[in-house]
Amino acid sequence: MFLREHPFCVICEQEGRLTPATVVDHIVPHKGNYELFWDVRKWQPLCKQCHDRKTAKEDGGFGRLVRG
Ligand SMILES: [Zn+2]
Repeated sequence: MFLREHPFCVICEQEGRLTPATVVDHIVPHKGNYELFWDVRKWQPLCKQCHDRKTAKEDGGFGRLVRG
């Protein structure tokens, strides 16, 4: 539903590319807070690559970013 209204990855869009979004990412960690979890204003559409990249960065990752 969310992805139907927000079909493109926001990170790719910032870089001038239109990539179909496949993942809904929570901008704010919801930590089990259901109100936060379902607040669509805190969601952003991402493609899998950007989501993986963002997650890797937030987890500390290994600094190995593959740009596609
Ligand atoms: Zn993307």
